[in-house]
Amino acid sequence: MTNNTQAAPAITLPPAIVVAELATLLGVTPIDVIKELMKNGVMATINQVVDFDTAAVVATDLGFSPEEQTVAVAAPLDEGEEAVPDTSRLSMRIIVEDEVGAVTRPPVVTVLGHVDHGKTTLLDAIRHANVVSGEAGGITQHIGAYQATAPDGRLVTFIDTPGHEAFSQMRARGARITDVAIVVVAADDGVMQQTREAIDHVRAAGVPMVVALNKIDASNANPERAKQQLMEVGLVPEEYGGDIIVVPTSAIKAEGIDELLENVLIVAELQDLKANPDQDAQGIIIEAKTDRHRGVVATVLVQTGTLKQGDAILSGTAYGRVKAMTNARGERLKTAGPSTPVEVLGLNDVPSAGDRFVVRADEKTAATEATSRQRAIDAGVEEGGKVTLETLFGEIHKGNVTDFNLVLKADVQGSIDPLVRTLEDLTVDEVRVKVVHASVGSVTESDVQLAAAARGVIIAFNTGSEQGAHRLADQEKVEIREYRIIYEIVEDVEKAVKGLLDPIYEERPDARIEVRQVFRVARRNAIAGCYVRDGSAVRGARCRVMRKGAVIHEGQIESLKRIDEDAREVAAGLECGIQVTNFDSFEEGDEIATYHMEQVR
Ligand code: GDP
Repeated sequence: MTNNTQAAPAITLPPAIVVAELATLLGVTPIDVIKELMKNGVMATINQVVDFDTAAVVATDLGFSPEEQTVAVAAPLDEGEEAVPDTSRLSMRIIVEDEVGAVTRPPVVTVLGHVDHGKTTLLDAIRHANVVSGEAGGITQHIGAYQATAPDGRLVTFIDTPGHEAFSQMRARGARITDVAIVVVAADDGVMQQTREAIDHVRAAGVPMVVALNKIDASNANPERAKQQLMEVGLVPEEYGGDIIVVPTSAIKAEGIDELLENVLIVAELQDLKANPDQDAQGIIIEAKTDRHRGVVATVLVQTGTLKQGDAILSGTAYGRVKAMTNARGERLKTAGPSTPVEVLGLNDVPSAGDRFVVRADEKTAATEATSRQRAIDAGVEEGGKVTLETLFGEIHKGNVTDFNLVLKADVQGSIDPLVRTLEDLTVDEVRVKVVHASVGSVTESDVQLAAAARGVIIAFNTGSEQGAHRLADQEKVEIREYRIIYEIVEDVEKAVKGLLDPIYEERPDARIEVRQVFRVARRNAIAGCYVRDGSAVRGARCRVMRKGAVIHEGQIESLKRIDEDAREVAAGLECGIQVTNFDSFEEGDEIATYHMEQVR
């Protein structure tokens, strides 16, 4: 049962490692590592040293199986480095699975596929056939996830939101929850646009899949044609010598459900999914909302450890004590072990879906950490970098990225095939150009989510972007590049791979300036009476006006005065009057951050 063919890749970590080096080893950006550390309550900077236990937490979160380099004595933290705050010790023991205590856990399954192919009906069928069994009431409420029982009694956890939007949204937030994906294909309709999308999303996530060939009862069902189409997209069914399990189902007649569950478990076994229930719980927020009567209601998936009523939990900047836990049958639980989804009451604020939760020694510790996270977010530590064609080479060079992931959209299929081939041929020794998804049509939110999850760039050839896709791209920091000429795409990607694109500039912070008073000189003119906290204020410098941590305006320092005299520069510790271009709504407490751009290549 413990066949290890699809286990997480092993990685050897030293007893102590600098955050930046850890990022390189894991093939992610330092920001990703810092974010993971923050999720676990460790505030570390890029140059800080973390010990093995802490690094292992991050590595595990990012899908590796960490091992410690064997040395006689564990190296102490470098004297010169700032020690990791004490709270980190609490987080460390959580995720690192205790080999001895780890036991097999149920797989977590997400259902994906084309619209109307029967995802919702299938989830309903599973719920009714295999959850109710003998119990009065059965599923009493939608809590976002539930567990079903296979014929042999083993459990399978289902995420109740079908579709790749939710799947990739979670992934883009760094959450890995799905162990096995069920791709639903209607036998009467075959492989469609969203089926292909779903398959690409699942593949990009490296998650194994089982195909449910649904609507097998339909009079015009054509299973053979559907299987042919699956082969065309590279999924070869077992009966044709491939490794894709295809299970015929009729969701509407509740047929094939047991076989589907059995096969999901077979695929799960290959992954050797284990977790140690004898430790503090840790997991992911599936969904959360505020209820008028019950306060914040969050459905969480316990990934490791056991969550107990009364535990103090922390997720992002929300925290609280678990007042009550309920499963999808409406049963009150006192404890919830690995892979168990439960609805939790007691958080003080609504956490974000996809965020991690951890257990802390007590509510006060959780509250303190929540506050320090909020401060770090306000200070902009959480800002992730956008990967663009210009920065990809830099990222690759720094070892942050190894694959050059592209999502390709075009107006006609005829342009896609040659483009994919030409682009993938640009692969050079150290950089693999990979088109993770290519399809006809405009850029959709789903494309943006996929690019965000894969840290890739979107290339749109002769096509635009859907409403919403641009907004999401801004939010998720995904670059959409539009082209009209194939040659230019190839040229740009080739240059990017070779690091020959136009010079790239990076932002360098200069001064932090506090707004202490606001003077109105005319109706549309405000001067901020300021104090230069760090660096020095320079006339003409680019700047951002920040309020409560958010950027509210970008501009330049238009005028700079020191005791009524025009000044070119005002140093730290001094007061000055500042006007910013096209901005007149300063408020006391605002901050002006100045910066300049520096060429990095
Ligand atoms: P979703 O969009 O993928 O969630 O699809 P739904 O579950 O909403 O199903 C779409 C339609 O297909 C509904 O009218 C269902 O009743 C129907 N349907 C779902 N599964 C089956 C099936 O196994 N056989 C037949 N004949 N119809 C089905």
